[in-house]
Amino acid sequence: MPFLTGELELALATPGCSICRIVRQHEERWIFHTLWEYTGDPGVRAKFDASYGLCHPHAYLMFQVVEGHQLGGSGVARMYETVVPKYREKLAELLRPKNMLKRWLRAKPQALTELKVKGCMLCRVRRDTARGAVFFLLQALQEDPETWHELVRKSDGFCNPHLLLILKDEQACGNPAFWQFLVDDHLQRLEELERQLYGFQRKQSYDVDEEISAEEARSWQEAIWRFTGMDFNCDHPVFANGLSQRSPRFRPSTWGRSGSPWHAGTPRRMPWSYRSRQRSSAPARLSTAA
Ligand SMILES: [Zn+2]
Ligand SMILES: [Zn+2]
Repeated sequence: MPFLTGELELALATPGCSICRIVRQHEERWIFHTLWEYTGDPGVRAKFDASYGLCHPHAYLMFQVVEGHQLGGSGVARMYETVVPKYREKLAELLRPKNMLKRWLRAKPQALTELKVKGCMLCRVRRDTARGAVFFLLQALQEDPETWHELVRKSDGFCNPHLLLILKDEQACGNPAFWQFLVDDHLQRLEELERQLYGFQRKQSYDVDEEISAEEARSWQEAIWRFTGMDFNCDHPVFANGLSQRSPRFRPSTWGRSGSPWHAGTPRRMPWSYRSRQRSSAPARLSTAA
């Protein structure tokens, strides 16, 4: 799974966790290329049949890719054409010799697992992509520490799950100074986040007459992605991805900090707040300073 340094650089310059973004882009590309070129590939189809297609989030990502790139559903139809009889035959087999569905569900819960999606192909791609991106990022950091340390510093850093994946990597473990850089960088970000969260809440209070900064106003969003990773189905510019481009050839989004009114520093609409409820005639003020 080759990564171009340009791809890593672009992901680091885009809001949120760069590893999450790369993983998502590779998932979309995998779906696109599979539907475009590999629906007849026996190896792909065998794996797809074995897991009864994709897991829930990945099945709906496939839905989005089909819609976003206007692929039409025939590729998906071809893929599921063999999944359906496989599932139907399995269900029929488990119900034999007597059709006693209720008793079977009570007595053989383990049989139910045979009918569940497991081992989703795209979940595997997701894990491999994250490991691959971490590997290439660490390699770049070791080969040209000056440039890449700076790129990491200027980025939004990583979500907690991906930070741990990075710290577990052998390349990171084998380089104590470098490992420490990543930990210190992350700790600073967490400290800053803590400060912004606190400031945001404090300034919502009716008796505090201080401006809420843009960083404070969006701190709650960072807390969510920082702790769990990014969810690109969230309708927010931070999570913008390639699906908005209707080109049949997938190209990662070039949307970045400079193009975002949100990251330019001024949220367009104030989130719900105690203050705005209490003083409906005087909306909460927001600093326009980035
Ligand atoms: Zn992440
Ligand atoms: Zn999956």
